This record gives sequence, C-alpha cells and structure tokens, in this order.
Amino acid sequence: MIKFLDLRKQYEAIKGEISGAITDVIRDSAFVGGKYVNKFEEEFAQYHQVKHCIGVGNGTDALEILIESLNIPKGSEIIVPANTFIATAEAVTRAGHKVVFCDCNPDNHTISIEDVKKRITGNTRAIIAVHLYGHPCDMEPLLMIAETNQLIVIEDCAQSHGAEYKGKKVSTFGIGGIFSFYPGKNLGAYGDGGAIATNDDDIALKCRMISNHGRLDKFAHQFEGRNSRLDGLQAAILSVKLKHLDKWIETRREIAKRYVNELSAIGDVKLPIEETWAKHVYHLFVIITQKRNMLRKYLEEKGVQTGIHYPESLPKLPAYRYCGQSHEEMWANRLDSQLMSLPIGDHLEPDDIKFITSEVAFFYEHTLDNKNQISQDGETQN
Ligand SMILES: *Cc1c(COP(=O)(O)O)cnc(C)c1O
Repeated sequence: MIKFLDLRKQYEAIKGEISGAITDVIRDSAFVGGKYVNKFEEEFAQYHQVKHCIGVGNGTDALEILIESLNIPKGSEIIVPANTFIATAEAVTRAGHKVVFCDCNPDNHTISIEDVKKRITGNTRAIIAVHLYGHPCDMEPLLMIAETNQLIVIEDCAQSHGAEYKGKKVSTFGIGGIFSFYPGKNLGAYGDGGAIATNDDDIALKCRMISNHGRLDKFAHQFEGRNSRLDGLQAAILSVKLKHLDKWIETRREIAKRYVNELSAIGDVKLPIEETWAKHVYHLFVIITQKRNMLRKYLEEKGVQTGIHYPESLPKLPAYRYCGQSHEEMWANRLDSQLMSLPIGDHLEPDDIKFITSEVAFFYEHTLDNKNQISQDGETQN
C-alpha cells in the first residue's frame, strides 16, 4: 500500500534525536513555556527571517489571536478565499468579524487578485492570504490593493513553512503570518501546535499577551486574554524536525517534478504549477480531473491512498450557508468536485512514484475508450 501520509516512517528515521529531545524536556520539567519553547521560537523566527515568533496551541488559535491583536472594529469584513481549510474562516468569526469569501486563481489555486477587488466594501478591514497547498499568493498586487484601500494583509502559512515569494519567505509580507504544526503539516509536531510570526513589535507583544492570559509576568494581567500556548515537548520535537525541513521540502519538490514530467501528457489531468515568482513547498500535490471519483476509486483498488482538499468549497458548507455565497459563480464553487491530491512526502520511494504515475496513465488509456463505464459511474464525460 502507498500511504498518503506516513508519520511512522518519518519517525523511524529520526527516532534517536526525538527520544533525546523528549527526555530533556521531561528531565527539566519544562512543560509549558520555558527554554525549549524559547529556543524553538528563536530558531523558527530565524528560519523564516522574521523578527518575532510566538508559539501557541494550534494554527487556528494563532490566526484568531493575530486577528484579535489588530484591534479592528468588531463586525468588520475580512476577505477569505473560498477554497481553504475551514480554520481560516472560523478564526475570523471567532474574533468577532464577518467572513466574505472570494474566489481562487484557477492556475495556482491561491486567492484571486481580481476577485478580491470586487469584494472590498466600506466595511472591509483585512484580507487573509492563504498560501494554499504550499504555493505562495501573488503578494505584490495583493499588497498594492491593500494599500490603496487601507486594508491589513494577514498570511495563513499553515501549509507553507519555508515557501518563498520572489526569494523571500512567507509570513514576512503582511502584518504577520500564522503557522500550524498539526502532525500532518510539512513541519508537524506530535500533537497540536501553532505559531504567529511577525516583524511588528507591538503586534508580537499583544499576541504573546493574548495567548497567555493577558500578561507577561506571573500575576500582572493587563487585560483578559486566554490560554493558548505551545508546550515544551512539542517545541523540542519541532526543533529536531526543523533541522530536517529543508531536506524534506527538497524531496517534495523532486517528487512534484517527477509527477509533472510523467503526467503532463495524460488524459484530462491538470497539474499544479509553480509560478515564476514562487518557491512551492508542495504540502499537497493537487490535480484537477473530471474523472476524479473514478480515478480515486481506481487508485484505491491499486493500493494508492489519495485525498481531496477540499471536498466542498467553504461557501457550500452548512457552516457557511448563512453567508449566502454558495451559488455564486466562482471557480472554487465549481471545481471542488474535480480536485484530488496525490501522495507526496518524504515517506515515498522512487518506485512508489513510478507505480502511481503508471497507474494514472493506465487509467486514462483504459477509461477513454470505455465511455459506458464512465457514465455509469455518474461522472460527466467531456
Ligand atoms: C491546518 C490549517 C489551519 C489550522 O491549523 P490547526 O493547527 O489545525 O489549528 C489553518 N489554515 C490552514 C490553511 C490549514 O491548512
């Protein structure tokens, strides 16, 4: 079987280092905050070439805290791409604001600059740029629109640790960026974890205080905050894994290159692109095909696990019906039935990629001259 994700295999490769790190934290009783958290925050800030990194409980909290730190009037509109994980939009609502969905770019799947322009009203205060699947958003035009309309740009980097726009790492373009260290992310902890990265001193201080009961010192609570902190075990594990991140990203990029080389002439598969200004870190390798469900089923039978990111655009989910944007003519509302993620990551062997690409090729050769089977399966034929 070829797994979509295999955390066990990655663990086996770094087991010694991880065991040492865990033992140190427990020996020092540095469970919440403390030196291992400080160390990881410094290392991660340096890796992303950003001034501050604040470790928090998870990526969703990170975004909610960052939005709260901005002090924008409650009920403001914040523009969120329609195709992303729900957390991006949830954080907006939780922070007391109004989600306004905008479409995604059909080529690189990130926020559509053209559509953002149409969504701006007198009540808009911010835009969340999600560097989706590991591909950065086109930041220059986005920052220009933001500047013209006095909007704040927030970066959701939960899928894009190490990704670059014009040679500069993500999280350094807007007011700040948030990261998730959920186990399946490119840099994943062994539990939940997240971080806020920013070059702004005031925002950094505010975020740190919000995430720790509105204080910096033990009982000096300046305002009501909350509890969302990175724990020492996760931080120590992340410090170990950060040292391997660039190598793992290179592996992902090589796999992507092989997929592109071997699948570019096949069937109705639209492959992901890497814009000339982008360094894509391929958290996900997402293809578009009209035969999505059939191809998934076929690969599953061959022992290849695949994923869908995401099965429904956010406006179409029950959670966001109230926004009334589910029937809008958006690429994201239409193409969600055709998205499919192939396995990618350091757990894959060269032979796995060969197997997957040859099975995908076989599927299209085989099904193209077997139209009956296709219509029976309820897929549209083109
Ligand atoms: C994973 C993810 C989040 C949330 O991170 P958690 O750590 O799971 O809370 C936010 N945004 C995007 C785009 C994500 O993929």
